[in-house]
Order: sequence, then structure tokens, then C-alpha cells
Amino acid sequence: MASHIVGYPRMGPKRELKFALESFWDGKSSAEDLQKVATDLRCSIWKQMADAGIKYIPSNTFSFYDQVLDTTAMLGAVPDRYRWNGVEIGFDTYFSMARGNASVPAMEMTKWFDTNYHFIVPELGPNTKFSYASHKAVSEYKEAKALGIDTVPVLIGPVTYLLLSKPAKGVEKSFSLLSLLGNILPIYKEVIAELKVAGASWIQFDEPTLVMDLDSHQLQAFADAYSELESSFSGLNVLVETYFADVPAEAYKTITALKGISGFGFDLVRGTNTLDLIRSSGFPAGKFLFAGVVDGRNIWANDLAASLSTLQVLEAVVGKDKLVVSTSCSLLHTAVDLVNETKLDTEIKSWLGFAAQKVVEVNALAKALAGQKDEAFFLANAAAQASRKSSPRVTNEEVQKAAAALKGSDHRRATNVSARLDAQQKKLNLPILPTTTIGSFPQTMDLRRVRRECKANKISEEEYVKAIKAEINKVVKLQEELDIDVLVHGEPERNDMVEYFGEQLSGFAFTVNGWVQSYGSRCVKPPIIYGDVSRPKPMTVFWSTMAQSMTARPMKGMLTGPVTILNWSFVRNDQPRYETCYQIALAIKKEVEDLEAAGIQVIQIDEAALREGLPLRKSEQAFYLDWAVHSFRITNCGVKDTTQIHTHMCYSNFNDIIHSIIDMDADVITIENSRSDEKLLSVFREGVKYGAGIGPGVYDIHSPRIPSTEEIADRINKMLAVLETNILWVNPDCGLKTRKYAEVKPALTNMVAAAKVLRTQL
Ligand code: GLN
Ligand code: ZN
Repeated sequence: MASHIVGYPRMGPKRELKFALESFWDGKSSAEDLQKVATDLRCSIWKQMADAGIKYIPSNTFSFYDQVLDTTAMLGAVPDRYRWNGVEIGFDTYFSMARGNASVPAMEMTKWFDTNYHFIVPELGPNTKFSYASHKAVSEYKEAKALGIDTVPVLIGPVTYLLLSKPAKGVEKSFSLLSLLGNILPIYKEVIAELKVAGASWIQFDEPTLVMDLDSHQLQAFADAYSELESSFSGLNVLVETYFADVPAEAYKTITALKGISGFGFDLVRGTNTLDLIRSSGFPAGKFLFAGVVDGRNIWANDLAASLSTLQVLEAVVGKDKLVVSTSCSLLHTAVDLVNETKLDTEIKSWLGFAAQKVVEVNALAKALAGQKDEAFFLANAAAQASRKSSPRVTNEEVQKAAAALKGSDHRRATNVSARLDAQQKKLNLPILPTTTIGSFPQTMDLRRVRRECKANKISEEEYVKAIKAEINKVVKLQEELDIDVLVHGEPERNDMVEYFGEQLSGFAFTVNGWVQSYGSRCVKPPIIYGDVSRPKPMTVFWSTMAQSMTARPMKGMLTGPVTILNWSFVRNDQPRYETCYQIALAIKKEVEDLEAAGIQVIQIDEAALREGLPLRKSEQAFYLDWAVHSFRITNCGVKDTTQIHTHMCYSNFNDIIHSIIDMDADVITIENSRSDEKLLSVFREGVKYGAGIGPGVYDIHSPRIPSTEEIADRINKMLAVLETNILWVNPDCGLKTRKYAEVKPALTNMVAAAKVLRTQL
């Protein structure tokens, strides 16, 4: 019985890659230094999987930035503006595409399916010239082979690659990206041929778009692509891997009918219908089924007994020698190794499994199926499952009751938004095109040190408060100097917008090294929600009132919304997600009310991650949006008309959820916008009625590039063409914490200047 891992985290158990990348970008270390760190990480990951007994070990799942960008590099599909010389793609071109450079902005970045991982969106058109320009897949395969490990090279499949692309600037929106299939397949063939020569016996094509709602034309592209590649597959085993949901019946039929494919991978955790589908539709004889039973999206230990019985059902369908135990998706989306968690409570720790532990689980399941069950391992696992089910620290009856009592009410503010905006304007007295920022200001080394020392009890509470207060004061003075209208305190006390709240709420546990890649070198450390959530005491009132006392201008209270806390945490899998979300909403509601009572007039409740919880399949989206938007309203339905509720969102695909966003009924919404060619504005151009305040981001904060006043004014003018003057706000795309003051000061100076110039013209 064989075992397989779809993909593995690349950042390293202590984020070694992050630090190597950032030091390289800062010019503090060489390309060779960076390569060395990367090589060491890859080697240790392969060895770890080999030692655990995994048969099909992935390669080419490492990346210096992003696996989609790696594919763009492989295909030589570099947009013209990066002036690539057309030979092999080096770090210069690669990182310019990812991060922009002094003269050219970065490529667009967007969420990878419904995860918090972001990929770099390929920009393609009829004139894109493709060439085999990065041999990374082959060199990684060879690198592992030199260590004596025969790996399965992983490529993003050609159809998924095209379906995730967007038409390049100047290309008709209606341009069929799939029409480029014939242009990219020759390069895939070159890669396959080279991998064969290097000795590869399996290749994995990741085609996760197969789980989406595809039309027949798109499905046909899969059939076309893989039959075109079929001749290159001779002498090779090919795995088509899917993940993140079940494959709809039509797509299942299409792919299982493909010739030349040796195996298919399915997500049996999120794909709740997959088991039935395989049972009822059957599975092609002689092919391998890669059964993803170990969850790659969560940190809970696998229920081995339950997985084993699922696998036994599958075994009866596909045959003993054709079933491969696997993960539900790449382990990229989970934390790296539980071994490094020395501070976690031991009971909670026994309920968990990170990537390294999941590898062991996969192998244990494969061995059990083969009749070599490790009884002790299975017994310990069953005991941990039982302790989690019965632990009193999981249940809080009061919270359960309060959440149950929410049923039957809509939780809406009493007055409509335009009346509220009038009432607020009377108090706030803001100019037209008011300027603001999203919340965080640059996080300096000093700040991080202060927080670290406070946590480690190396400095007193008093010293800590003094240091943070000084920082807030600096940020407030800076904003006054810049003449920004609605201020923020800069969030110096927060290392992360979710962790900060989770640490103060009950029902949350924290890791020391449970990092998950978000984009590039950026990682997040999601809290673990293991029990019922409640708020023992105020969380932000102290800092927000302190900041407000330093200025006469309105100071925004800054909270993270329930949906975002949910979506950016590892969530319990023993109750529905919405139940957990309502519990968090009730906790945040208390905080909103305390802020209001303390005199804070503008409260921003960030829902940066509302969209990414959207189920991939249309049939499930309405239900999610309903409870997510409801949860947001619960937090602020009780405030006075004169209290202005802002929300903020970090993505640009709004067209399909704009009505839900309106239904959130916030007074002002600030939205990321600048990296996506003002996609957002097209919604309003198409006539969606929108009466609340709105601030589409006027510049990209992911890039060190400083936007000019003209460029920003230009953007605002585009917005003014579709939105009413009196509802438009001027703000950056997102928080500034990843930037440096040397970038933030001139960028905000230009932003305020642009708003002022336009005010005189209106
Ligand atoms: N208020 C947060 C900040 O500015 C919002 C971050 C986000 O949207 N991701 O950092
Ligand atoms: Zn944001």
C-alpha cells in the first residue's frame, strides 16, 4: 500500500526561507546565500518524507515566491514591461514580477482558491511569446535524485494555469485564455521530455480548477490538453491531482475518461461527496486512486480510525494495489512541525498534527491498510480523539446559549445609511474626499523587540506601555503633519490582526512556530480555535482612547471582524463554521460597544478575509454569505447613528458579492483596488446602487514603489467618474505595516496632495 504527499510547506520549520529572502532583497546577502538556504530546506524536507516511509514524494513544490509565478517563468510568459532578455529567467526578472522594482509595479496577486495563500496572476494575450525559460522542475528533480530520493515532480497543470490567468493590459477582456493551450503545451512537452531523460517515473499535474463550476468548453480543454500530451506520457506515470472540494460529477466523468493518465487525486476532506461519487460512478480499472484523507488545510490530528474505514471502502472499489493514501491538498496550507511547539498545553497538543505529523499519519494509514497496523500509534490517536470530544475546556454553556439566542433576528441598525452619514458628518465635519489609512503603520525592529521583551517579561508592563505610547504619539503627529483627516493609532501593539484578538479571547490557543505562507516571504500564524469563544475583558479600549486623547481629529478604533478572525484561524472541525463565527461576533460586539462608550466615534471592523471564506462552488455561496454578513452586522447593530462604522477588505473581486457587501450595511468601506486595474469600479459603472462611503485603494502597499501625486489624482478621477463625490474616501489599498517609513511618508504626502488638488477642482 503506497503513500503520497501532494506538496509540502517551503518556508522551513523556523521560517528560514523568509529570512533568507528578506536579507537578499535588502542587499544584505548574496544570491548564493539564498540558494544555499533553499537547497538545505529542500533536502531536509525530502529526507524527512523518505525517512517517514512515503513512497511518492513531491518535488518542485519549493518556490522562492510562488508556484504559479514559477510556472509563468517556466513558460517564459514575462510581461513586456519587465524587459526580460529572453534567455533563462533569473532572480532579477523573477522578483521584479513578484514585487515590482523601482520603475515597474508588480504583477497582480490574488488568493489561491479559498485559501489565504496568494499567487501572482499570469498576464497573457494573443501576442505572449512562450519559451522554456526556467528549468526549475528538472533541476529540483535531479537535486533530489542526487540524494538518492526519486521524487514526483509537480507541475501546475496547463488548463488550471490558463484558467487562473488574466488577459494582459490592452488585450480584450473577452480574449479566450484557453485558446493559448496550443501555445503552452509544446513547452510542457519539453519539460516532460527533460524530466523523463532525468529519470522521472511519475509526474503530478495539479489541476485544482477541476473542483470549480466549469462549463463544457472548459471541461473540453482538459480533454484536449491531456490527449495532446498523451504521446509525451509514454513510459511515464501521470497523476492528475485535484483539491479543495469535490470534483463535480461532469468533471469526474471527463477526467476519469482521459487516456494516458495513471492516477487521480481527490480531496476527501473538503470533498464531502467524493466518496459517494466514486462509489456510484465507479473508477477506471487499472488506475491509481490517490485518496486525500489527511487534511492539508487544518492542524487537527487525523481521526485515523475514521480515515481507515473510508480507505477500506475505496479499496473495495479500486482494488488493493491501486489505492494510494494521500493528503487532501498540499500541506502548504498547514503549519510545519508540532515538534517546535514547546509551549502548547499538552492536552491541546495531543489533539493536533502539523505537516510533519501528517506525513507520519499518511504513512501509518498506508501501513495499516497493508496489514501492518501500528497498534500503539492508532491507540494513542483514538485516546486523543476521545479526550478532545469530552474535554470541559471546549464547552462554555453560557456562550452556546447566547449564540443560540441569535436565531430569528436580522440584527440591523435602526436608521438607513444615508441618514446615518448625515448625522455622522454633523459631528465629524470632514472635507470632501476625506483621507485616511487602513490601520497599521510600519512595524520597526524596535517595535518588534519591545513586544517580544514584554512577552518574555524582560521589560515591565510600565516600560512597555511607555514605548507603545511613544510610538502611537509619533504616528499621530505624523498623520497630523501629513494633514490626514481620520487618523489611526498605527497598531504598534499588534503583531497580527487576528492573533492580537485571539490572544485576548477564550477558546483560542497559540503556537510559537505555526507559520503558514500567505504570499512571498509573508507568513501568518493562525490561532487555533479549539473551544467556545468569549471575551473576558476589553481588548482595544485602552490604546484607542489613549490615541484619541493625543489629537482633536477623529481616531478610528480598530477591530478585526468575526468572519476574518474565523477565516484566518485554524477552526474547530467539531461544529459548523457559522456557529463559531456567531460566537466571535458576540465577543466583538461587546468591544464595539465599549469603544463607543469610551468616546470613539469612528470604529473600523476589518473584514479583510470575508471573501476568501466563499465556498468555491456557487451552490454553497449564498448560505455562507448570509451567515458571514449577518455575523458582521451583529457586531455593530447596536451603535448610535452618529458612530461611524468602517470596514475594510483586501481583495479586488467584488463583482459577484457586491450585494452582500452592501448588505453588511457599514457606513464606510475601504477596499483594495489599485493592483487590479480598478476592476471594482466596473461594478459601479454597471449601475449598482451604492450609498455608503467608499474608499477604493489609491495605491499599492505591497510594493516599495512610491506613487506620484498625478498618478493618484488620476486614479481618484477615475473613481469620481463612477461614484458620487460625497461618498468617496481617499486611502491606500491596505495597512502599511510591511512598508518602511521612507516609503510611507512620501506616498502619503502624495496621496493627501492629490486629494487636496482635486478638492479645489470639485
Ligand atoms: N487594519 C489592518 C492593517 O492596517 C488591516 C490589515 C488587512 O486588511 N490585512 O494592518
Ligand atoms: Zn487590507
